[in-house]
Amino acid sequence: MTMTLYDTMTRSKREFIPIDSPLVKIYCCGLTVYNYAHIGNLRTYVFEDLLRRTLLFNGYKVHHVQNVTDVGHMTTDADAGDDKMQLAAEREKKSPWEIALFYEQAAISDFKALNIQIPEDMPRATDHVVEMIELIQKLEKKGFTYVTSEGVYFDTSKYPEYGKLARLNLSEQRQGAREEVIADETKKNPSDFVLWFLNKPTHIMKWESPWGPGYPGWHIECSAMSMKYLGESFDIHCGGIDHIPVHHTNEIAQSECATGHTFTNYWLHGEFLLTKIESDHDGGFGKESKSKGEFNTLKSLKDKGFDPLAYRYLCMQAHYRSELKFSTDILEAATTGLRKVYSLKRENDPLAHDNEAFQAAKTRVLDAINDDLALPLAVGYLNSYGSLSLWKEFDPILGLDIAERSNKAKEAIPAEVQSLIDLRNQARKDKDWTASDSLRNQLIEIGYEVGDGPQGTTVKKRTI
Ligand SMILES: [Zn+2]
Repeated sequence: MTMTLYDTMTRSKREFIPIDSPLVKIYCCGLTVYNYAHIGNLRTYVFEDLLRRTLLFNGYKVHHVQNVTDVGHMTTDADAGDDKMQLAAEREKKSPWEIALFYEQAAISDFKALNIQIPEDMPRATDHVVEMIELIQKLEKKGFTYVTSEGVYFDTSKYPEYGKLARLNLSEQRQGAREEVIADETKKNPSDFVLWFLNKPTHIMKWESPWGPGYPGWHIECSAMSMKYLGESFDIHCGGIDHIPVHHTNEIAQSECATGHTFTNYWLHGEFLLTKIESDHDGGFGKESKSKGEFNTLKSLKDKGFDPLAYRYLCMQAHYRSELKFSTDILEAATTGLRKVYSLKRENDPLAHDNEAFQAAKTRVLDAINDDLALPLAVGYLNSYGSLSLWKEFDPILGLDIAERSNKAKEAIPAEVQSLIDLRNQARKDKDWTASDSLRNQLIEIGYEVGDGPQGTTVKKRTI
C-alpha cells in the first residue's frame, strides 16, 4: 500500500515514508481557547482526523499531538496587539484560566460530536512555559535572539532559510512593511517576531524568566511542545493554510535554528471554509473568522436542527486543499445525502455476495483515499456502488457511525408508536384533519419521518 501526501514545503505530492515505521508522529496546531471553535476551525480538525484515521486503517500506529493555546495569542497575525485570552476574560468577567478551561471543554465536546478522535496528547501552553524558556535560551546561546524593551526577539536576518515554507521574498516583505504601521519600532527587521514579551504590566498571565517577568510569544509554544512530545524531527505537521506565512514559518525558524536539523518531513495544510454571506444578494461567500465576532459554531448548526455528522460528511465533499462552500442549503443537501447512506439495505447490497467485486471496489476506494486523501472521489465511488457493506468497511476512516445509524433505520416500530399510527389512520378515515395533523406532529417529535402510503400512515425512524 502506497500513500501520497501533498507537502507544502516542496509544493508536490510525495510518497509518505515515516521516520520510524510503523509509528507516525503528527503535530497539529490546535485551538486558541478564547471562544467557541468556528466551523472553519472544525473543518481543519476533521481533515486532520481523516488523515489520522487513514494512517490507522493502513496499519500504522499514530502519535498525534494537538496543542491548546491558552495564553498569548494575538488579535492579528502580527506580533502586536491585544491578547485574545485577556480580551475574552474582560468580556466575560472571568479569569483567563476559567475562559481557557471552558472553551477547551466545549471544543472537546465538539470533537466527540463530530467523531474526531481525541489526539494522544493535547498539551496546554501554560503547562509548558519552562520548556519554552529553555528553547529560547538555546536560541539565545546560538546567537539568534536580541532583547528590546518590548521582548526577546528572533532575529530572522540570522537565518538565511527564513520564509522557505511560504517562499517569502524578504526584500519584498521589507518593502511592504514600510508602508504599514509597524506597531513595534524596537524590531530590527519587519519579519522578526517575539519569543518572550516583556514590560506588559496589564497582562494578567505572567511568568518569571531570565529576561524578566512576561509571557511567551505565540509561535514558541508549538516548537517547544511538538519537540517535547514527538522529538526534534517528526513526520507530519498540519494546520490551516493561514498558518503558512507567519506561524509555521516562525515555528520552522525557531526549531531548526535550535536543533540544526529538519523540523518536519511533511507539511499539510487545509484550505478555508467559505460561508454564504446572507446579506450579499450576488451570492457571495466569505471566510469564517473568530476575531470578527460573528461565526457559525457546531452548536449554532445543532440549534438549527442539523446533525454534527452531516457537517462531517459535508467536509468530505471538498478536497482538504480546496475551499469548501458552506450555507444551510448546502448542509441540508449533505444531510439528505447521508440519510440515503443510512437507509441502504443489506438485502439489496450489490456487493454482498460477490467477494471479488467487493475487493475490487474496496481497492478502488482505498486507492483514492491514499492519493492525498481524495475523499470526494472516494465518497463518489461509495455512492455509486450503493453497497452498505462497503460503506461499513470504510467507516473506520469516514467516522459516520454507518452500522449504528443504519440499524436504527431498521428498528421495529414500538407499540406506542403503532398506536399513534392507528389513531392517525382512524382520524384520516373520519376526515378529522386537525387530529391527523396533530398526531403527525407527535410522530415527528419523537423522531419519525411520516408519510402517506396507499395503506395509510407510513413511518421511518429518523437516522439524522
Ligand atoms: Zn502551531
